[in-house]
Amino acid sequence: MAAKRQKFINAVRRAAAATVILSMATTPIASQAPDRVIVVTLDGFRWQEVFAGADRRRITTREGGVRDTTTTLARFSRPGLEANRRALLPFLWGTVAQEGLLLGDSTAGSDFRVRNTMRFSYPGYNELFTGEPDPRIDSNDKVPNPNVTVLEWLSGRPGFRDAIEVFGSWDVFPFIFNAPRSRLPVNGDGLPFPVPATAVERALNGMTEWLPTHWASARLDAPTMAGALVALQTRKPRVLVVLLGETDEWAHERRYDRYLDAAYRADRYLEQLWNAAQEIPEYRGRTSLVVSVDHGRGSAGRDWTDHGEDVLPAGRIWMAVMGPTVVPDSTLRRQRGTQSQFAATIARLVGEDWQSARPTAAPPLLLAR
Ligand SMILES: [Zn+2]
Repeated sequence: MAAKRQKFINAVRRAAAATVILSMATTPIASQAPDRVIVVTLDGFRWQEVFAGADRRRITTREGGVRDTTTTLARFSRPGLEANRRALLPFLWGTVAQEGLLLGDSTAGSDFRVRNTMRFSYPGYNELFTGEPDPRIDSNDKVPNPNVTVLEWLSGRPGFRDAIEVFGSWDVFPFIFNAPRSRLPVNGDGLPFPVPATAVERALNGMTEWLPTHWASARLDAPTMAGALVALQTRKPRVLVVLLGETDEWAHERRYDRYLDAAYRADRYLEQLWNAAQEIPEYRGRTSLVVSVDHGRGSAGRDWTDHGEDVLPAGRIWMAVMGPTVVPDSTLRRQRGTQSQFAATIARLVGEDWQSARPTAAPPLLLAR
C-alpha cells in the first residue's frame, strides 16, 4: 500500500476514533459489546406460513377446522405474497427480515432442517439447546435430560450466574433443561409468578387463574409472555428464553384459525419484547433476538396438523436472528443449515463459544461476512 494512502487511512481512523469517543460520552450503553440475547420458539410453527403467510386453502371448515372463515380471511388473507405474510407476521417481515436474517426460505435458496429423526418436541428442544441430536431422547416423557444444554453451561460462565431465565408453556420444560441439576429457573406451567413480588405480578397471577384450561400439560401463551416480559423489565436477565406453545396445540386440534391467531400474537409479542428491550439501558444496543421452532409439520392436504417420525416434511424448519452483530446480507440469507446450530448461535450472540465446551455441537449461524 502506498505511504500516502496509508497516511490518509490513519487520519480517517483517528477521526473515526474521535467520533467513537464523542458518541461514547453521549451514549455509553450502546458502545458496549453485545452480550444479551432474547430467545423465542414457536412450537411446531411451519415454515410455510412464515414465508407465505396464511394459506387460503386451509381457511376452510374441512381441512382447516375453521369456524368462521369470513373473519379469518379478513384478518389474515391478503392478495400477493408480501402483503399476505406481513398480515400474519408484521414484525418478522417488517423488522426482522429487513434488519436481520430470516432463514429457511427455499424460494430464496435457503434450507433449514432438524437432524433428529423424531420430528417432535423433546428431541427438537434438545437439539436446539445442545447443538446436536440425541437418539436416546425418543419421547416427550418427563425424563430429566441427560445432556447439558447451552443454557446450563452458560449459567456457570463468568457474568451469567442468576442471569438466565426460561419461561415456557409446557410442563416438560423443567425436565428438558433438567432444572434440579442445572438450577436454571424454568417456569413451564401454573402461575407465571410463583412468588409474586408486586401488585402487578399478583394481578397477572390472578388473571392466569381466570384463563380457560385447554390442555392437560400446556398452558396458554399469555401467562408465559407476561412472566417473561416482567422478567425483562425487572430482573433484566442476560439470556431470556420464551418457549411459546399454542401454535402446536391448535394445529393438533385442526384449528387453523387459532393456529394463525397464536402465530400472530407471538409476532406481536416479539415486537413488544424487542421494543421493551430498546427502552432499557442494560439491553439497548447490546441485545440480539433469535427465533426458531422445535419441528415443522406436514405439508400435503389435511396432513398440515401432524408431525413426528413418519411425517418427513416436519423436518423442515426456519430460524430468525437480528442484533448488533447480525448483517442483513443477501448471501447470508441464502445459507443452509440445521436446528443444531441454534445452541452455538445463542452462545455467540452473548460472546461465548459453545463448541469449546461441546466440540461435537454444530457451529453457529453465519451472522456476518
Ligand atoms: Zn406437537
